[in-house]
Amino acid sequence: MSERVVFEQARLVDPLAGVDEVRDVAVADGVLAAEAPADAERIDARGLILAPGLVDLHTHLREPGEEHKETVATGTRAAAAGGYTAVAAMANTDPVADNAAIVQAVRDLAAAAGSCDVFPVGAITRGLDGEALAEMGEMVEAGVRVFSDDGRSVPTARLLRNALTYAKAFPVEVVLAEHAEDASLIEGGQIHEGARSASLGLAGRPAEAEEVIVARDIAIARACGGRLHLCHLSSARAVDVVRRAKAEGVRVTAEVTPHHLVGTDDDLVTYDTNKKMNPPLRTAEDRDALRAALADGTIDAIATDHAPHAVEEKDLEFDLAPPGTIGLETALAVVLTHLVEPGVLTLLRAIETLASAPAQILGAADHGGPLEPGRPANLVVFDPGAEWTVEAPFASKARNSAFMGERLRGSVRYTMLRGAFTVADGKPTR
Ligand SMILES: [Zn+2]
Repeated sequence: MSERVVFEQARLVDPLAGVDEVRDVAVADGVLAAEAPADAERIDARGLILAPGLVDLHTHLREPGEEHKETVATGTRAAAAGGYTAVAAMANTDPVADNAAIVQAVRDLAAAAGSCDVFPVGAITRGLDGEALAEMGEMVEAGVRVFSDDGRSVPTARLLRNALTYAKAFPVEVVLAEHAEDASLIEGGQIHEGARSASLGLAGRPAEAEEVIVARDIAIARACGGRLHLCHLSSARAVDVVRRAKAEGVRVTAEVTPHHLVGTDDDLVTYDTNKKMNPPLRTAEDRDALRAALADGTIDAIATDHAPHAVEEKDLEFDLAPPGTIGLETALAVVLTHLVEPGVLTLLRAIETLASAPAQILGAADHGGPLEPGRPANLVVFDPGAEWTVEAPFASKARNSAFMGERLRGSVRYTMLRGAFTVADGKPTR
């Protein structure tokens, strides 16, 4: 149900409008209103921040095929709880989202759940087999704008060139999103390869695995003019390659996860399987380079790589546990606590990287702001000072959080999707 509401004296932070100021924000008939309707509900938002709803470029919803980990309904409820109004759902489901029928099925499930808009990502190759291109044309017609074989890299430069060249021929902008880890360098690898992997006796995944794919992909994108996006960057040298490419005008964007912005491989000394992920947490130098790159615009967006697993799957020996951490419900607070409070990012830049930039990359025109009269009321209202502890249960079906037990500041009070509350008074409404 679309609300008639005024958030009184909220601090409006709206990067696309260049606004950071305290004012009333009114919503009616699903859109932002210039004037508060006379019968509007009035919400005291003094001390709260009102921003465009967050947009996640990298969510694993697990449905179809792995509903014991997460479903579209639970994953999108987790998204709303975290302040998101739109997420891109990765293609590595079972069956794989490599055709228009699966894409539409995921979208229908999301619409029925009503918590958050879902933009399905299409597979680049059929069944993620890394061999034949998927039915990209059919999926573009069905509204898909981002393609990815996430979980693995496109295996050869030639196949990537074919995909980028093909993608460029569509009348709309189509983005190829790459999981950049060279398969031949990471086989059997568990954590970042370095002194820590040696001391823990775990096989490594070297930073060069990322750097070589990033360099390869940028070379191909430069040559054929395709639109490339790099998922979850984790290493300082890969960041340097992206920085140079952007300076040259290559059409490349990049994302980084909250966990790579905070954690390092030293966190693995307890063999915590919730901190096992691909690409792995690296060194403090890598983490600091990622932070600097996010601040200076080399990295465009923060994406969660929300990767739910069942408790019994993560509760295994380190070598056997699947990689990944959930992230939708902690991303905003992690960014506020670890990046905004210490002054690494301004609040405006943080919202830009969490909402406006990802919306633009995704082609989600109704999301990410600007929050101006007549625009869809997709927004989040949060209390930047509210402290809480990361603990189960989550709105997500999973509980494999790399931030488990941490004290964070920043708590979502309201999330609105087209003027309807998906979170009210801090609780999901669906
Ligand atoms: Zn990935």
